[in-house]
Amino acid sequence: MPMKMKAAFLVDKERFEIREIERPKCGPGEVLVRVKACAVCGTDLRIFRGEKKIEVPITGHEISGVIEEMGDGVSGLSIGDKVAIETVVGCGKCDACRRGEENRCRRKYKAIGYQYNGGFAQFTLIPKEAVSQGCVIKMPGHLSFEEATIVEPFSCVINGWYPFRKRELRFTTVVIGAGIIGMLHVEYAKQMGSRVILVNRTSPRLILAQNIGLPADEFIDASKCDPVKKVRELTDGLGADVVICAASSKNIQREALEMAAVDADISFFAGLPKDDSNVLLDSNLIHYNELHIHGSNASNRKQYLEALDLIASGKVNVKKFITHKFPLERIAEAINYLEDRSLNAIKVIIDPWM
Ligand SMILES: [Zn+2]
Ligand SMILES: [Zn+2]
Repeated sequence: MPMKMKAAFLVDKERFEIREIERPKCGPGEVLVRVKACAVCGTDLRIFRGEKKIEVPITGHEISGVIEEMGDGVSGLSIGDKVAIETVVGCGKCDACRRGEENRCRRKYKAIGYQYNGGFAQFTLIPKEAVSQGCVIKMPGHLSFEEATIVEPFSCVINGWYPFRKRELRFTTVVIGAGIIGMLHVEYAKQMGSRVILVNRTSPRLILAQNIGLPADEFIDASKCDPVKKVRELTDGLGADVVICAASSKNIQREALEMAAVDADISFFAGLPKDDSNVLLDSNLIHYNELHIHGSNASNRKQYLEALDLIASGKVNVKKFITHKFPLERIAEAINYLEDRSLNAIKVIIDPWM
């Protein structure tokens, strides 16, 4: 008798089907994880809307769970281990992979939830190339599965800071965008010892951020003032040393250059829509002010481990971000919660056993 499991198949644009399928079996080197929590990410929303294509029917990449089964030849892990899953799988051979920067793989990395089936299912099979690269990461026993789903997005945030960290401590960071990613940037900036200003284009989100105790020093409502002027005012006219664009907007990228101090670091952290990504920027601001603009994409294992450590040690409290939990059957509704700002969702989690 083959064992069955439930999985959410994305069968068409904006249409999930909950199917009962055969539970995957472990081949050599593979690990089967019982998914305890899989958080819904902004990228899942874009996949759901058909704006981003994936190569498998089951998405979901912010995964935590318990090892259910292991194939031959897996070492360092045991059945019953609580684990968080790193999603990026590099080729393992290029110079970037050999340096441990698999998100910069020269051969274009693969990822769980994109090229391999993901976590919106009761079980997920971790492929052998992922297992051998260490993508199955043991998490401390006291950490909840819900909290562990934040390790993935937080590691991406840490990757965004990676180019700045070679430089000396910064004084003022501006984060533009108060979604979960912007909020995690605020947390990380505080860990880096920076003063943090959070900017958002509407006020309810800023009120929510304040209510949950997000440790920003100042909050700027861009619907009520010019954020560039306000940042200059708050920095004695100097501008911000670090500016993070954490919302998908051309205007934010332009504003980031205008509010940046001389020699500032700017992260174009959020991508723009695929078919609308040409931006007119004042390149003289970059030239005369010696600005450093950085891209950021996914994360690597070192950053996972740093994120896990910050969360598990309690230095960064992520419980406050987990606002909603849904069973697998309500996945479409869960995704809609992300988009409907009136619902005050920050992180929405799918529990496939609910
Ligand atoms: Zn994500
Ligand atoms: Zn590689």
